[in-house]
Amino acid sequence: MISMEAERTKSKQVPTDTVSLDRYRECRLCPRRCGVDRVAGERGVCGESAACRVASYGPHFGEEPSFSGTRGSGTIFFSGCSSRCFFCQNYQISIEHNGVEMAPHELRAAALSMTGPGRVHNLNFVTPDHFWPHIEWLCHRVREAGVDIPFLFNSSGYQEPGLVGEYAGVMDMFMPDFKFAEPELARQCMGDPGYPRIALEALRRMVEAKGFLSPWDPTGAEPARQGVLVRHLVLPGHVENSLAVLDFLHAEFGAHLPISVMSQFRPVPACFERGELAQGLTPDEHRRVVDRVEELGFRYAYVQHLRDTTDFMPDFRAREVFRGNRSPAPEPRKTPDHT
Ligand code: SF4
Repeated sequence: MISMEAERTKSKQVPTDTVSLDRYRECRLCPRRCGVDRVAGERGVCGESAACRVASYGPHFGEEPSFSGTRGSGTIFFSGCSSRCFFCQNYQISIEHNGVEMAPHELRAAALSMTGPGRVHNLNFVTPDHFWPHIEWLCHRVREAGVDIPFLFNSSGYQEPGLVGEYAGVMDMFMPDFKFAEPELARQCMGDPGYPRIALEALRRMVEAKGFLSPWDPTGAEPARQGVLVRHLVLPGHVENSLAVLDFLHAEFGAHLPISVMSQFRPVPACFERGELAQGLTPDEHRRVVDRVEELGFRYAYVQHLRDTTDFMPDFRAREVFRGNRSPAPEPRKTPDHT
C-alpha cells in the first residue's frame, strides 16, 4: 500500500485517455456539491481526486440472487464514497481509501476480463457516482466491444437527482440503498439530514426510468436484466428507522417495489471509537423488521436471515475480498496489485 501523499503525487501523472475530466474541475457530481477541483488534486467529501481508483474487481456471489445468479455478478468496487456513513461495512475503501489508480484502458480491460460466454451475468458498478465520468466512458467502451449483459448502478442512494437521467442512459438496473427515513439519524451517521428527501427523489427518477426489477426470480436461475431494487441495512438500536423506511417505501411505491432487507450489520472500528452502533442486531430487532415487511405485503422481497457467518463481510486488504466467494468459485476474484 502506498501512502496517500504518494498517491496524491501520482494522481497528477495518470493518463486521461479519452475520458473528459471537465466535470471533476468544479465537482458537483453528488449532493455534497463541494465545488472542488479534483483534477488539481483537491478532494471533497468523497476523498478522491480525478484519478479513478478501484479497490477490487471480479465475480461476486454475495449479491442478491437476482444479480449473482449462478455465475456471479461482475463487481467493480470504487474507492471513496460521497456518503461516508461512519458505520460503513466497506469502510476500508469508502473511508480508508484502499485501492489503486486505474487508467481508462485498465478499467476497460478489467471489465472485459469478466465478460464473455459463461461468465458473469452483469457488470456491477459499486459506489459509482463520484467517478461517474469514468464509468459512463467505460460503459460505452464495453458496449462497443459487443458486451450485452446488463449494467448495474449499485449505490448508497445518496445521488444527485438531476443526474439520474444520465445514469439511466447507460445503466440497465439500479440497486440504491435507502438507509435513513429519519433526518436526525442521517445527520448523525453521514452528516446530511437531507438524505431521506434526496434519496427519495433520486429513487423516484430511477423507478420512472427503469421500472421495478425484472424478471423477478429469487432463486437466481433467471437473473434480472432491468429495473430497480432497493436495499436497506437494519441498524442495531434503530429499528424505528427501519420500520419508517419500509412504511415510506410502501407509501411511495406500493407493495410491488422489489426490496432487500439486510441484517448483516457488524460494528466496524469507528463504531467502537464513537461508542455508537457498537453492537450487533438482536433477534427481536430482526423479527420486528421482518414482521413489518410481511404486514405491508411486499411481494418481491429478499429478507436476510440473522447470520452468524462473516463470509460476505469484505476484507479489501486480502487477496480474496469475500471468503464466501470461494464456493462456488469458478475463478478467483482479482484485486489490483498495490504498488
Ligand atoms: S463527488 Fe466528491 S468532490 Fe464531488 S461533490 Fe461529491 S463528495 Fe464532493
